[in-house]
Amino acid sequence: MNPDARIAIIGAGLGGLVAGALLQQRGYRVRIFEQAPEFARLGAGINLSPNVMKVLGEIGVSDRLLDIGIRPRSWVSRDLTTGEILFDYRMRDVVETKFGAPYITIHRGDFHAVLTEAVAPGTIEFGKRLRGFEQQAGNVRLDFDGHPSVDVDFVIGADGINSMVRETLLGPELPIYTGYVAHRSIFPMSRLDGMEVDDFCKWWSDDAHGDRHIVVYLLDKAAEEIYFVTGVPQADWDHGLSFVDTDMEEFRGHFAGFHENVIRLVEACPTATTWPIFEREPLTLWSRGQVVLLGDACHPMKPHMAQGAAIAIEDAAILVRCLEHCGDALGAALTLYENSRKARASHVQKHSHANKWLRAPMDPSWVFGYDALTQELGVPAGTP
Ligand SMILES: Cc1cc2nc3c(=O)[nH]c(=O)nc-3n(C[C@H](O)[C@H](O)[C@H](O)COP(=O)(O)OP(=O)(O)OC[C@H]3O[C@@H](n4cnc5c(N)ncnc54)[C@H](O)[C@@H]3O)c2cc1C
Repeated sequence: MNPDARIAIIGAGLGGLVAGALLQQRGYRVRIFEQAPEFARLGAGINLSPNVMKVLGEIGVSDRLLDIGIRPRSWVSRDLTTGEILFDYRMRDVVETKFGAPYITIHRGDFHAVLTEAVAPGTIEFGKRLRGFEQQAGNVRLDFDGHPSVDVDFVIGADGINSMVRETLLGPELPIYTGYVAHRSIFPMSRLDGMEVDDFCKWWSDDAHGDRHIVVYLLDKAAEEIYFVTGVPQADWDHGLSFVDTDMEEFRGHFAGFHENVIRLVEACPTATTWPIFEREPLTLWSRGQVVLLGDACHPMKPHMAQGAAIAIEDAAILVRCLEHCGDALGAALTLYENSRKARASHVQKHSHANKWLRAPMDPSWVFGYDALTQELGVPAGTP
C-alpha cells in the first residue's frame, strides 16, 4: 500500500481500532468512521486469549490490559446439574509459558476504551454512519447519513455483523438467527453472600437440556463484580437485530433445577440483557476492488469459543502485513489476506457453532498458539 494512500476504516469496534492502530504505527494515513455519536459502556465481559494478546502487545496495550483485567487460574468446565469438573484447563502461568502471551478476562468497556487510546487523537470520527459507497477509477466515494461524502483510496469494512460495507459489496441479506440467545449481566459480588466462585467457569448442560450453558467470570483484580453470559435455546426472535432487557423470571426459569450455585447466581442477579445470536454463511468474496472486509462484517460466529473479537483482531494484523508486503499491488495484497485467513476463520466459526470448546480435555494449541505477527502469509494456517 502506498504510504500516501487515503485509508478509511468503517467501524471503531474491536477489529477496526486495532487495524487503525497498526496502520498508523507503520506511517499510514487513516480515518475511522463510527456511526455511534459516542461509545456506551456495554455491560459485558470479554476473553482475550494468547493469540489476540500477541497482537495487542504489538500496538502497546497489553501491559495496560494486564493492569486492569485478570489472568484466570483455569478455564473450568463443570456439569450444570452436578457441578462435577469436566475439564480444568490450567491457564495462569501455564498458558504464558506455552504460548508466549497470557489469557485474560476483562470488562469489554475497559478493553474498548484502551483500544480507542491506541489510535491517534482525532482519528475516530463519531456520528458518521456509512450509507453506501461507489468505486470509480481508483477512488472510493463514501456516503454518510447527514454528512458530506468523503473520497478515499482504500476502505476496510470493520462495521460488524450488520455491515453496510458487506451489504454494498454483496447485496442485502439478513444474518441467520441461530435459535439461541445469550443473557448477559454484570453485578456486585456482594450479592452472592460470600458464595465461592471459580475465577472462570463454564457450566454445561447435558444434551437433554438443549445445549444450554452459562459462563461466569471475574472482570478485574478488585473482584467486586461478576459477569455471566449464557447460551440458551429460544426458537424465535422477534426483536430485530438488537438486544432487549431480560424478563428475569423467565430467565431464572431456564436454570431452575440445576446446580445450587448456578441457582444462587441467577437469583442474585438483579438485571440482565438478552442478545440474539446470529451467524452468516461464509461469504463468496472478502474484497472487491479497493474495499475489504474483516471481523464480524466478514465471518460472524456464535460466541461459544470466545474468539469472535480475537479473529477480527488477527484479521487486522494479517491484513496490515499483507498491505505492507505487497507495496502498490493492492489486488495481490487482498488475495494474500483472504488466502491467509479464510481457512482459520471458517474453522473457528464451525467449532464455535458446535459449542464443544474446552468442555472435555483437548489441546487448544491450534487456536491459542496462532501468531498473526509471524505466521507465514498466503498459506491456510491456524486450523486443527
Ligand atoms: C454474547 C457475546 C459474547 C461474546 N464474547 C466474546 C469473547 O469473550 N471474546 C471474543 O473474542 N469475542 C466475543 N464475542 C464476539 C465479539 O464481540 C465480536 O466478534 C467482535 O466484537 C467483532 O469485532 P468487529 O470489530 O468485527 O465488530 P464490532 O466490534 O461489532 O464493531 C463494529 C463497529 O462498527 C460500527 N458500525 C456498524 N455499522 C456502521 C456503519 N454503517 N457506519 C459506521 N460505523 C458502523 C459499530 O457501531 C461498531 O462500533 C462475543 C459476542 C457476543 C454476542
